Amino acid sequence: MVDLKPPDALLIGQRRLERAVGWVRVAAATVLIVGSLITAIDAVSVLLGTALIANTVVAAVRPRAAAGRQRVRQVSAAADIGVVCLAMLVFSLDPLSALPAVGALVIVTSSLRAGASHALSYAAALSIAELASTLFGARVVGAPLDPYRLVADLAVYQLTVPLVRWVDGEFRVLGTQLEYRALYDTLTGLPGLELLLDATERTIAAAQRHASKLAILVIELRNFAAVNTAFGYETGDLLLQQVAPRLLDSLPEARMVGRLGGAKFAALLPEAPDAARAVVAAQRVLRALQRPVTVAQHALDIEASIGIALHPQNGTRADVLLRHGEHAALAARGSGDGYAFASETEPGDAGRLELAAELRAAIDRDELLLHYQPMVSMKTARVVGAEALVRWSHPRRGLLAPDAFIHVAEGTTLIKPLTHWVLNTALRDCRAWREAGHDLGVAVNVSMGNLMDPQLPATLRGLLDASGAEASWVALEITESVLMARPERAMEILSQLRRMGVRLVIDDFGTGYSSLAYLHRLAVDEVKIDKSFVLGMGTDVSSVAIVRAAIELGRTLDFETCAEGVEDRATWEVLASIGCDEAQGYYVATPMTKTELDRWLKDSPWMTQGPVGDTGVT
Ligand code: C2E
Ligand code: CA
Ligand code: CA
Repeated sequence: MVDLKPPDALLIGQRRLERAVGWVRVAAATVLIVGSLITAIDAVSVLLGTALIANTVVAAVRPRAAAGRQRVRQVSAAADIGVVCLAMLVFSLDPLSALPAVGALVIVTSSLRAGASHALSYAAALSIAELASTLFGARVVGAPLDPYRLVADLAVYQLTVPLVRWVDGEFRVLGTQLEYRALYDTLTGLPGLELLLDATERTIAAAQRHASKLAILVIELRNFAAVNTAFGYETGDLLLQQVAPRLLDSLPEARMVGRLGGAKFAALLPEAPDAARAVVAAQRVLRALQRPVTVAQHALDIEASIGIALHPQNGTRADVLLRHGEHAALAARGSGDGYAFASETEPGDAGRLELAAELRAAIDRDELLLHYQPMVSMKTARVVGAEALVRWSHPRRGLLAPDAFIHVAEGTTLIKPLTHWVLNTALRDCRAWREAGHDLGVAVNVSMGNLMDPQLPATLRGLLDASGAEASWVALEITESVLMARPERAMEILSQLRRMGVRLVIDDFGTGYSSLAYLHRLAVDEVKIDKSFVLGMGTDVSSVAIVRAAIELGRTLDFETCAEGVEDRATWEVLASIGCDEAQGYYVATPMTKTELDRWLKDSPWMTQGPVGDTGVT
């Protein structure tokens, strides 16, 4: 593990110092040239001054020449030595008190570039050079010898050495800090992705030598985006800063705990952490995150999911293990435990391909069916529409929920025929309700693949015409992540759909990273607050705060809000009191077949009396 601690404070800006030194050189050079011009045009002085200026230029390009830095450094130091030897010669022939200043300056700049350890050698070299050239001047040219001046000059060179060491120390602090910034997450102080990969690679190498195991935990804070949306980014940052030490405390055995970015962290557990030990560690983390975090006077609950990837089962490369861990963290969202193991095969492997082939056949064979879940207006307690939720009546595995196969469709082009089938069926069913006198709309979920399909508006137009349904009856539910992944492309298609008169709904609001700007630009009609917040309303205050913030946002940006996952009357009442427009959930009704819904529309107390019983589950 790279051991870098953040230095306390930045004392010197490296570039600023370098620039300052450069200006001093230029000034010295100017004095030299001008000075020699006044007495007589001394070609050697002009040469010396020009050399100093050139030397400054070489030094000035250094910060930018990152790749050839070493080379520039050497050239620059050699040039300095050359310049000073020339200076020695010139000054010993025509002694000037500027000599020690130039010498000291050259020791400083050369050492800064070549390393402070060289300062003493440079000082010694200059002392010898000055001694030699002074003696040469006295003996050969007959220049007067001034022993006091000579001793003073040599003393200046020696005193320059500690000065160089001090400046170099400051540089080192700065260098460490720059390196630190590149490798560490400045918000939490935890190592970043690069260090994590590096440490994992090395741990893997060690594990392979000793035939031992290791595990990676990917820890994701699910509600982080919602906190950002509801309370602002500053609060989000403070939350992350409080989470980091909890992770460190709860994972003493981790070789490294780092931040992958966003609200994702990863921990590297070396030394044979088999599945059972990894689970113990994951549970410890989940417990540590159970206590609400207090930031800016809000007590926020943290919802974490942990993905566990094991070496060598899930991979023998750091990046592969991390990717598996991230996938598993996604899978953990749906698990009751809060953690999930990476599957032993790559995502996109044989099992998925087989399922994809089966699903393709299933669409053609009409094995899909729709369940509908009513949505009711909280103002009138009337049913305003139903969401179409696809199911697969699998010949061997029975009725499959969408979670078992939608991801397969989404990972292939199958999502197009699937959505086509859902839209077609939903539009026809909606038309039938209308004909039976029910003023209902129908909501259909659309995926990323659909929104990247420029044909979608034309396809929908065709289906509307064929079924006799109207665009205004249809709502398309889009998750935030879909919207934000390729916003411009999605916006284009969504705008076309809007112009057709289709309602646009943001689904699972609070779980992704919505940009308010896009919500506004798209003029979405409705936002569905994710059920994780609605389900949490009874037990934790931050969920209530988030739901309330979403409803406020709806008022400001002029969209309706629908709460999904309303399971009891208490939640309904709270939602009604804070001004939520619509509700959907088991309290009203569970998803049901078209036939069941037809019956429900006729008999349900909801259709006559509104929220009466304590549960709508039938
Ligand atoms: P979603 O759009 O968020 O759908 C709501 C899910 O919440 C449904 O699960 C529904 O059964 C469940 N739910 C409804 N009320 C409650 C409640 O009171 N409490 C709880 N705990 N859950 C409730 P389902 O049907 O399993 O659908 C899961 C997801 O599959 C959907 O999430 C949607 O993202 C996706 N999906 C369903 N049908 C389609 C489809 O036709 N196309 C696409 N692309 N995705 C679909
Ligand atoms: Ca939905
Ligand atoms: Ca949803």
